[in-house]
Amino acid sequence: MKPEDLVRPEIFALSAYAVAPARGMVKLDAMENPYRLPPAMRRELAERLAAVELNRYPEPNAPRLRELLIRRMQVPAGMDLLLGNGSDDLIQIVALALARPGAAMMYPSPTFVMYSMNATFSGMRAIPVALREDFSFDADAFIARMRAERPALVFLACPNNPTGVLYPRADVRRVIEAAPGVVVVDEAYHVFAGETLMDDLPRYANLFVLRTVSKLGLAGIRLGYLAGRPEWLAQFDKVRQVYNVNVLTQAAALFVLERLDVLEAQAAEIRAERERLGSALRAMQGVTVFPSRANFFLVRVRDAVRTYEALKRQGVLVRNLHPALANCLRITVGTPDENRILLNALKETI
Ligand code: PMP
Repeated sequence: MKPEDLVRPEIFALSAYAVAPARGMVKLDAMENPYRLPPAMRRELAERLAAVELNRYPEPNAPRLRELLIRRMQVPAGMDLLLGNGSDDLIQIVALALARPGAAMMYPSPTFVMYSMNATFSGMRAIPVALREDFSFDADAFIARMRAERPALVFLACPNNPTGVLYPRADVRRVIEAAPGVVVVDEAYHVFAGETLMDDLPRYANLFVLRTVSKLGLAGIRLGYLAGRPEWLAQFDKVRQVYNVNVLTQAAALFVLERLDVLEAQAAEIRAERERLGSALRAMQGVTVFPSRANFFLVRVRDAVRTYEALKRQGVLVRNLHPALANCLRITVGTPDENRILLNALKETI
């Protein structure tokens, strides 16, 4: 007996989500915040974590953490949150809950690969709708396609990964208004965009806002949240693994969210550094830089494989999107030192 005799053919055909080994590298491949928590705060956190009862199961709905997130993230009155083991978990939960036979999932393309992967896992029909050449969003084309295909679920990453583009708010609202089903606006990078649709939740019964603490500086603890109407979240909640947010994650998040200003100050530094890095990249011959409202840049070079390998040899890890995007690399904004190393390495290789 071989795996292909029993594994679903669409799973067998998938490539696993690739994560490159990064030990000792300047790590600019995963849109992480390059800064750690200040040492004094880390020591205090260690004490907090030492008090956690690891012998007990977590509280299934993490009520204290949910309440704190609702307050800190300005979730409108009457809305609630569903918590996930990262926002990846919530993407999967929503897809599983809505995957009736024949149901479709639609998203602009290229975008975050987890949407299409979860369409496959859940058996939903995936309908990617091409962005324009410059990766801007053609709302008319998207809405026309939505009218034809009637997707149960739409994902709009705002800003988008891997392009960094933030779709105009008016276009996103038009999609929400025209959608026959659920629209999840994925705001993984909202701290870098300075825009959110959170305030629109009361206006639209089919809107959900997906967030993560990963890009804010807590990628390691795995915590995402989905904001929306309680009666919908109660249905999605049935699909959630009961203990999906573990005790250490809950305790660490409670601690850090009480000191959110530290992460917000880091995000402000990253935004400033994004402007400096963007200008330096744009000044380089042979590099096309797409405008970004996130903490990374999509760049086009002459030969992405060659540049990727050359950067790697010089100890810099970026993301090669080949072959999904012709000759494009995605570069996370790092610390000023990391960005300097990247720019020097790029100069050598372009
Ligand atoms: N949404 C988007 C648009 C992303 O780019 C990412 C991560 N790269 C995620 C969601 C998942 O984030 P996490 O699972 O770390 O919360």
